[in-house]
Amino acid sequence: MSIMVPSKTPALITPGRQALDSALHQLHQAAEHLGLDHGLRTMLATPRRSLTVSVPVRREDGRLDVVQGFRVQHNVSRGPAKGGIRFHPSTDIHEVTALAMWMTWKCALVGIPYGGAKGGVAVDPATLTVREQERLTRRYVNEILPLIGPEKDIPAPDVGTDEQTMAWIMDTYSVSAGYSVPGVVTGKPMTLGGSLGRAGATSRGVQIAALAALGRSPEGVSVAVQGFGKVGALAAQYLADAGCKVVAVSDAGGAVHADGGLDISLLRAWAAEHGSVRGYPHADELPLDDLLELDVDVLVPAALEGAITEANAPRVRARLIVEGANGPLTPEADEIVNANGTTVVPDILANAGGVIVSYLEWVQNMQAYSWSSGEVEVKLRDLMENAFDEVRSLAGARGLTLRQAAHVIGVGRVAEAHQMRGLYP
Ligand code: GLU
Repeated sequence: MSIMVPSKTPALITPGRQALDSALHQLHQAAEHLGLDHGLRTMLATPRRSLTVSVPVRREDGRLDVVQGFRVQHNVSRGPAKGGIRFHPSTDIHEVTALAMWMTWKCALVGIPYGGAKGGVAVDPATLTVREQERLTRRYVNEILPLIGPEKDIPAPDVGTDEQTMAWIMDTYSVSAGYSVPGVVTGKPMTLGGSLGRAGATSRGVQIAALAALGRSPEGVSVAVQGFGKVGALAAQYLADAGCKVVAVSDAGGAVHADGGLDISLLRAWAAEHGSVRGYPHADELPLDDLLELDVDVLVPAALEGAITEANAPRVRARLIVEGANGPLTPEADEIVNANGTTVVPDILANAGGVIVSYLEWVQNMQAYSWSSGEVEVKLRDLMENAFDEVRSLAGARGLTLRQAAHVIGVGRVAEAHQMRGLYP
């Protein structure tokens, strides 16, 4: 039997705590630049509503497991709260708070009328059967029911959730309301009011941001993509379609590399069949961590937070980093790569395509009308390119990095909304 000995070492900094520290650091830098007073800064640093729930889930063998779930509404000053739900074993309230805060700035930056939220359940969905996933999703939704609604807080997919999860959320909410409410969640299947273009929207946005930042022909530009999930696989595809040479990709199972460029369609088919890019026959295997340090033109981290830290940042050689994931660089890593001359297109800009098309889906739901894929694509492109231009010109005018400029714009718009609305009572 092991005996618990009280530890004298300070509590470990969890990845979630690290993400929240990064988010707060970015906020304070922007607030400093904007000259916001202490009270307003404190409001922006603090989530508006934060709910922790226990989610009991009946396993197939009859056992009862209880997991922790969260929904954080960081800010609702510019409109309803908006943000995905993540199923991941290491998620915690700090991580969800950081991700909710990033959603607030992201929505403000791209000019869509939402605040920011995020949800999470500390579970590995791969360890659950589909029926267990359904029971877990429905019970979690039931526990956060007082918070969500098409005018209040609209969830969407994130790491570990997909359109099936969104369908269960829509159904659970609708059964409780007594009628169908498609606008309560985005990223739904097409049959339930999903939008054309939503599935690939984050990746399309990454492509638009990468090409805008490159500022030259993408022909032959070398790219490495970390993460081959919902965002990374299609980002690789769209960049390859545009003429880039995607030389390396990785997922949790392994990394593959081919100097002459990977056939992304073939690789996606392989990964879909085998559950990982590992073992793909037309490429060399690469140690996982080496992918981030390849000598490439563009690096797209599209996995989780904290992929690049002060430990590996000095070895990053990419000229351009486009953040498909939320928070893949710690503030220390950000400083190091900037000092080394790498341009970083920050998460709240680079991966905003997802929430932009979520917004378009919600608008279609609210007016019970659907747009063609062409209409969705044009609106997505407009919003992404406008935001990119605004960030680039502010960065140029004030000598800021793209990340600093993006935060100054996002935080500034939310601060302005607070000031205009005033304080009640
Ligand atoms: N989870 C995505 C993000 O981090 C999309 C959120 C949404 O569509 O609401 O931006």
